[in-house]
Amino acid sequence: MNLDQPIRQIAAELARGDYSSRELTVAAIERAKRLNERLNCFVTIAEDQALAQAEQADQRIRRGQATPLTGIPVTHKDIFCIDGMLTSCGSKMLANFTAPYTATTIQKLLDAGTVTLGKANMDEFAMGSSNENSYFGSVANPWNTDCVPGGSSGGSAAVVAASITPVATGTDTGGSIRQPASFCGVTGLKPTYGRVSRYGMVAFASSLDQGGVLAHTAHDAALMLAYMAGFDPRDSTSHDHQDAWLEAVPENGIGELEAPLTVGMPKEYFDNASIGATLYDEARRALEGQGFRCQEITLPHTDAAIPAYYILAGAEASTNLSRYDGVRFGHRCEDPESLEDLYERSRSEGFGAEVKRRILTGTYALSVGYFDAYYVKAQKIRRLIQQDFLNAFSKVDLLIAPTAPGTAFRRGELTDPLAMYQQDLFTIPASLAGLPALTLPCGLHDGLPVGLQMIAAHFDEQRLLKAAAVYQSITDWHNLRPDLRMEID
Ligand code: GLN
Repeated sequence: MNLDQPIRQIAAELARGDYSSRELTVAAIERAKRLNERLNCFVTIAEDQALAQAEQADQRIRRGQATPLTGIPVTHKDIFCIDGMLTSCGSKMLANFTAPYTATTIQKLLDAGTVTLGKANMDEFAMGSSNENSYFGSVANPWNTDCVPGGSSGGSAAVVAASITPVATGTDTGGSIRQPASFCGVTGLKPTYGRVSRYGMVAFASSLDQGGVLAHTAHDAALMLAYMAGFDPRDSTSHDHQDAWLEAVPENGIGELEAPLTVGMPKEYFDNASIGATLYDEARRALEGQGFRCQEITLPHTDAAIPAYYILAGAEASTNLSRYDGVRFGHRCEDPESLEDLYERSRSEGFGAEVKRRILTGTYALSVGYFDAYYVKAQKIRRLIQQDFLNAFSKVDLLIAPTAPGTAFRRGELTDPLAMYQQDLFTIPASLAGLPALTLPCGLHDGLPVGLQMIAAHFDEQRLLKAAAVYQSITDWHNLRPDLRMEID
């Protein structure tokens, strides 16, 4: 029994009866408990519920009604509501919040027969790039426990990197799947905005938030996406994008890439990556060896992406988070003297420093005198950035780029919020444009993983995942694992 294998392999072994989902789940729980002491990657390990689900999965497998995900333990970022489970979103504000319903995406995965092993630690309300903003303490990077795992889906990335569950869910608003996946040496997919329902996913910046997956391979990411994707009447921004290819993934896998692709390499990204030049060169040559044609392109408004994002995301966060007022749910202060006192103290006590910073800047950007100067201007920049990508995709099929400016940094190293925001340099533009993007491990720099990003046109996850699978078929970086695993086992 081995949790560190492609999902289809595990599914085949479950189907053969080599072991049961219950046995697999017991092993995953055991591993989660042991490694959580060092990594702090879980907010909740859902032992009883997981075992009950595993038993149901075993019955389903015996009845011959299994999907490729039936009986597979999965970890969910603690931003997804799951009925009856703590959904903290990494915040003191929701540290006592038991969700009364289940997010659509999670429900789809449950319907497919997955086992919910637990909920992953994360930056508070998904704001951050290092997981140091969690009310439940920071997460350690399995490759070097003195380093951060990235954020905000850092718990999910650490769980997959440490081979606790083969896949985990995450969310990405400006890079929160891709940057931690890159820091932890795993594959991370942010789908096209609207591909996956946001219903039941605690809102940060609704025009950007998108659920996705962290896995070891593009094949596993595709398999998860096949079950997570789809229109949801409860999310008016989800799309009814009929995609026969994606629907066929559970049966047929992701298939071969039909034709050689033209790949754009945005100059503005490669010029600003502080590490990895040799690795990116090797990656380019590997792709060229498979018939990909790489060429330099330009995305001229890249520089403006971070300022625009922090205005827009802050503005949306300030309105989304106004619902936490101590009245209906969430943290409530002791003995409020008046309604105003209740609001003021509940919010002051419940939110951490970074969340307060976003609410303050976002409220400022939306205020009467500044709306045009900040919010409207940022929206215009967002449009220019989208246009840059549309121009690029009229010439090339796919973009490759660095995922993050560097590798995982040390815990406590970045104290300046603006330096932290620079982490998102290469991930934010695709978020602002709503494009699908993924990251793949493409090597090590000083013993820490480096990620290669691929970005495709809207709803072209097919090309994205197939190209990623080609890269993974000729390289071995995705098979490297941190030493931690050896030490513990
Ligand atoms: N690091 C970015 C931020 O703090 C992105 C977060 C995210 O994608 N959720 O906003």
